[in-house]
Amino acid sequence: MDKLEKVVIVGGGTAGWMAAAALAKTFGPTINVELIESDAIGTVGVGEATIPPIRNFNLLLELDEADFLRAVNGTFKLGIEFENWGELGDRYFHPFAPHGIDTWAAQFHHYWLRARQAGESAALDDFSMETCMARANRFGNKSGRAANYAYHFDATGYARLLRGLAEKMGVVRSEGKVIDVEQHSESGFIESVRLESGRRITGELFIDCSGFRALLIEQTLGTGWEDWSHWLRSDRALAVQTESTRPPVPYTRSTARSCGWQWKIPLQHRVGNGLVYCSDFMDEDRAARTLMDNLEGRPITDPRPIRFKTGRRRQQWTKNCVSLGLSSGFLEPLESTSIHLIQNSIIRLIKMFPRAGIEQANIDQFNREVESEIEYIRDFIILHYHVNQRTDSPYWTECREMDIPDSLRHKIDLFSRSGVIFRENNELFSEVSWTAVMIGQGLLPASYHPVVDRVDDANLAAMMARVKADIAHVVSDGPSHDTYIQQLLDARRSNQQPAASA
Ligand code: FAD
Repeated sequence: MDKLEKVVIVGGGTAGWMAAAALAKTFGPTINVELIESDAIGTVGVGEATIPPIRNFNLLLELDEADFLRAVNGTFKLGIEFENWGELGDRYFHPFAPHGIDTWAAQFHHYWLRARQAGESAALDDFSMETCMARANRFGNKSGRAANYAYHFDATGYARLLRGLAEKMGVVRSEGKVIDVEQHSESGFIESVRLESGRRITGELFIDCSGFRALLIEQTLGTGWEDWSHWLRSDRALAVQTESTRPPVPYTRSTARSCGWQWKIPLQHRVGNGLVYCSDFMDEDRAARTLMDNLEGRPITDPRPIRFKTGRRRQQWTKNCVSLGLSSGFLEPLESTSIHLIQNSIIRLIKMFPRAGIEQANIDQFNREVESEIEYIRDFIILHYHVNQRTDSPYWTECREMDIPDSLRHKIDLFSRSGVIFRENNELFSEVSWTAVMIGQGLLPASYHPVVDRVDDANLAAMMARVKADIAHVVSDGPSHDTYIQQLLDARRSNQQPAASA
C-alpha cells in the first residue's frame, strides 16, 4: 500500500460513529471515510453511562455541552453509588475526584483512618464534594469550585448526533448488510467488503465496529480471544427502560443482587435499568423477576436479553483491521468503561495513523497499549466482586473465594497492610478510585502513613471539620441537578452563562 486514502468502518453503533466523527474532524477531506451499517441488525442499544474523559472527546468534536445534552437527553454524573456490594445494606460512593485534601506523601484516607481511630464517625464518603453534591441531588455551585463529572446519555441519541456531525464533515454512510469479506490472497489484508445488494466497498484500512459479531477481526481474521469469565462470572444482561418517577439524580446506581447487580441510569426523559448476572447461578426467568420487582418506574420497553462473553480480542489491530467497541473485547459496564476504551483507541489510532502504510511496529505498539489498559480495568472490576463479606448466596461466596490475577492480589495486599495504593503506567483508575472501592467494601488498611502522626489530635479533628464544613457550604450553594440542566439549556437558547458553574 502506498498511501492510505480510504477508511471503511463496518458498524454504526456508538463505536462506529465515534470513530467516523473523530476521523473526519481530525483529517477532514484528506481522508475518505465510509461507514456501513445495517438497520436490520441494529445496535446493542445500551451504553448510557460514561466517565469524565468523554468530555475531552466532545471537546475534540467541538460539541457545545448544552446542545449535546439536549440531543441525547443527557444528565450529569458525579460518580456511582454502590449498594449491597461489601455486605447487604452497605452503600458507598465512587466519586470522580479525590476525597478531602491530599498531601503529596499521603492521600486523605490516611488522615481519615487516624481520625477514625480517634473517634471520627463520618464515613470517607462524607469528605468528598462530588459525593455530597450527588446525594443532595445538586449540581454546580456559585463558589466556582469545579466538580469532576461525566454524563449519562441516550445511546441511540448519541450515535444519531455523531452521525449528523460526521455526515456534515463528509463521511459517507452506506446502509446494508455485509455478507462477504475479500482478502488479499498472499498478505491476508482485507481488500473489500460485499453488501447483500451486491455492492463491493474497497478501502485500505478497515475498522471493525460490528459489535459482538466481530465480523472482520474475528470472523474474517481469526485473531483469537482471551477469556476472563473465570474472574468475571456474569455472562447475561437484561435491559429495560422505565418512566422517571422523580427528577434525575447526578449519579449512576449499582445495586448488588443475590447474583450480579442492577444498574439505574437516570436521563432527562426516562431511566435506563438493567441486571447483569451469571447464567450458572440464575436463569432468565428469575433474572427477569429480580429486575422487574426492583424497578421504580413503569416499564416503557420489554426487558431485552443480551448475552456476552468477558475477555479481550488477542489483537485489537491485526493486518489492516482495527477493532473498536464490542468487537474488540468486553468488560461488563460496572464502571462504565467501554465507551472510554473506544475513545482511547480512536485517539491512539489517530496518533499512530498509518497514512504512509501499515507498519508492524505501529500495530505492536497499539496492541501493547490496549492490552495493558484493559487489564488494569479488568483488575479494578474484579476487585468489586472479590472484596465482599456477603454470606447470603453461593454466588458471592464464589466471588470472594476465587483466585484473582497476581496484579490485583499485589494491590490488595499492599493496601491491606499500609493503605498505600499506586496508579501504574497508563492505568485509567487513580488511587482515589481504588481507595473508594476498597474502603467502601470494607477493606480497611491495618495502618496509615506515618506522616499523619505529625498532626496532633486537635488539629486533625479541626482539619476534618473544616473539610466537611467547606463541602457543606459548596453543596448548599448550588442549584438542584435538574434546575442546573434547565438553566444550561435555557442559557444556550438565549446565549447567556448559567447562574452556577460546574
Ligand atoms: P453495536 O452497538 O452492537 O453496533 C454494531 C453495529 O454493527 C451496528 O450498527 C450493526 O448494525 C452493525 N453490524 C453488525 N454486523 C453487520 C453486518 N454484517 N453488516 C453491516 N453492519 C453490521 N458502555 C459504557 O461505556 N457505559 C455503559 O453504561 C455501558 N453499559 C452496557 C450495558 C450492557 C448490558 C452492555 C452489553 C454493554 C454496555 N456498554 C456500556 C458497552 C457499550 O454498549 C458499547 O461499548 C457501545 O455501545 C459500542 O457498541 P458497538 O458500537 O461496538 O456495537
